[in-house]
Amino acid sequence: MRRTARAILHPDALVHNFNRVKQLAPQSRIMAVIKADAYGHGMIQTAKTLHMADGFAVACIKEALALREAEVQQPITVFQGFHSAEELQQAIKYQLRPVVSQYHQLELLEQNQQGKLAAWLKVNTGMGRLGVAPEACLDYWQRLQQCNTVTEAGLMSHFANADEPGNSTNQQQINLFKQLTTSIQAETTLSNSAAIVAFPDIQADWVRPGIMLYGSSPLVNQSAEKLGLRPVMQLESDIIAINMLKKGDAVGYGGEWVCPEDMPVGVVAIGYGDGYPRHAKTGTPVRVNQQTAQLLGRVSMDMITIDLRDVESVSVGDTVELWGEHISVDTVAQCAGTIGYELLCRMSVNR
Ligand SMILES: *Cc1c(COP(=O)(O)O)cnc(C)c1O
Repeated sequence: MRRTARAILHPDALVHNFNRVKQLAPQSRIMAVIKADAYGHGMIQTAKTLHMADGFAVACIKEALALREAEVQQPITVFQGFHSAEELQQAIKYQLRPVVSQYHQLELLEQNQQGKLAAWLKVNTGMGRLGVAPEACLDYWQRLQQCNTVTEAGLMSHFANADEPGNSTNQQQINLFKQLTTSIQAETTLSNSAAIVAFPDIQADWVRPGIMLYGSSPLVNQSAEKLGLRPVMQLESDIIAINMLKKGDAVGYGGEWVCPEDMPVGVVAIGYGDGYPRHAKTGTPVRVNQQTAQLLGRVSMDMITIDLRDVESVSVGDTVELWGEHISVDTVAQCAGTIGYELLCRMSVNR
């Protein structure tokens, strides 16, 4: 079957966004976050394009092993760490840098007899997901220092609300982390994309950009374009039919759109089966022939319908941009009640 929906990737935009991170965090080393198949952009391909990165970060050991198999040489941080002695052995063998956030992981390191690796100790400064309690942090760190398996233990934490820079919890997290570093002299890493943009003064040893590398905005109230980021993914498909419908005609499942007048309606070959969000509302922008048009009615599995009333000289076969250079994925996400992260991540099913 011919599928016309396609995600086109722009490696030059990826490199541009990486350089933007460098500008914003000139003192820090950069671990490019490429978990979830590089937010839908292809993990290996993204790592190869970002060969200038100081390191990479993924969620689990399995992802890190795939990178080593593809001959990626840089340090690889594994955010969820290892969960068994076998996984620890793999982490040692392939020189991965796991994050330690639970007592069980500390015990596995202490029990291990063979091999060494560098690790990160993660402290919960307010995210409340992974991380040891601040009170326990020094004790964990000292045990890691004494542990034969560990050559180096860095200190890491993660923000809960950096996408809203004005939120007071951010400063609390920064203060708590700073306070811990007075008794713990270690390599540090704190900032995700939002914090890189919003709190450039943090100056930790490493930064951990994810979403901004792909050209989606990490901040709730700031567009990617304003932040100097360029979209890496362009989602496109084609118009496969143009129907002249009559006033009162209903369009699509549930008949949610009823034509207010006689009007042309375009059918585009893309739907939620291709990763376009089913919850995108009537009015979600799409781009056709250098003009902005709007989604009408419900998104189907492999088709959407669009309002062609204000679009000049359009015909079957014309290309439609769903997101990319002109339509921000963040705008589409907002129209669908979600975030750019989710829309990008699930595109990986197309490759
Ligand atoms: C995913 C993740 C990041 C990257 O976050 P972005 O908001 O995409 O920049 C950084 N650190 C940790 C611990 C993460 O899980």
